[in-house]
Amino acid sequence: MHELSITQSVVDAVRERLPDTPIASIQLEIGKLSGIVADSVRFCFELVVDGTPLEGARLDIDEPGGRAHCACCDTEFELEDSILLCPCGSADVAVLAGQQLRITSVEVV
Ligand SMILES: [Zn+2]
Repeated sequence: MHELSITQSVVDAVRERLPDTPIASIQLEIGKLSGIVADSVRFCFELVVDGTPLEGARLDIDEPGGRAHCACCDTEFELEDSILLCPCGSADVAVLAGQQLRITSVEVV
């Protein structure tokens, strides 16, 4: 499962940087265009942290929408899915945001 390895690498990154620190919660940002299913990450998180010092930590996930820029009409617009089409009808668009997966903060106990 795609989300399992993603979740594992998030947990590994936190444990690597804060090896001896009890963690209360982890805040993640998963862009709507990332193709990552937040609910699956929540589910996998429980499995991945089981038996580790992160067990019991809360996972908060933000899902910001995407933004894109159209080269044809030179405007920026919101993207709710990964269909890259400007309201003007052009498909000559560049994604500016929404594909990210990042840890935005970690709260220690
Ligand atoms: Zn356009």
